[in-house]
Amino acid sequence: MAIVWPCPLPVDAYVAAGREVEVPRTDCPLCGEPLMSWSGYWRHVRAKCLAGGRCRKIFVPRVRCAPCRVSHALLPAFVLAWRLDTAETIGAVIAEVIGGACGVRPAAARLGVPYTTARGWVRRFRARAGGLGVGFAALAVELGGEAIRPAAEAGRFALAAIGAAFDAAAGLPGWLRLGAWRFASSVSGGKLIAVNTGSPFLIVGRRRFMPPVPP
Ligand SMILES: [Zn+2]
Repeated sequence: MAIVWPCPLPVDAYVAAGREVEVPRTDCPLCGEPLMSWSGYWRHVRAKCLAGGRCRKIFVPRVRCAPCRVSHALLPAFVLAWRLDTAETIGAVIAEVIGGACGVRPAAARLGVPYTTARGWVRRFRARAGGLGVGFAALAVELGGEAIRPAAEAGRFALAAIGAAFDAAAGLPGWLRLGAWRFASSVSGGKLIAVNTGSPFLIVGRRRFMPPVPP
């Protein structure tokens, strides 16, 4: 299982920290007991830089719950589960294409990602848009934000709902500097465009809305 924590660090700083990266103390999502450090693993992330996308290795700490006998990976919010590119890159493509600013090809070219990869993100987002829209719209209201009405097009509704939920969260300490897509990754457990989930699982709805690390 993976827990996404609201990491505010730039990707470069996270990469540079290596195994020494500091993560917040977390409780077990199953039983609420404090989790203990339990090694970790390396994975790749492709972050945008001046030369286009570049792969870097990041350390993902693992934590373990002794009573439940389960370990969890602590993913930083700039990644999405099972995706190589950062949440910001994926979100930028989705926002441009679903928002109607441009097609997939120019969006992918501008961000330096393969066209077919970008097209896959947009398709996944569209396929999940109904559930995402409802989930994020409810989250916006729970956080004291604006109630938004479903738009005619599900993708646009989901995009507007993510925006409204982030606007509401940005009024709480720490979230503003994370940006909308790290926020979306955090509250969806990294599964914003995951293949095998139904409606989005938003952590705040179960009172496990992990506050971001203070600056
Ligand atoms: Zn547990």
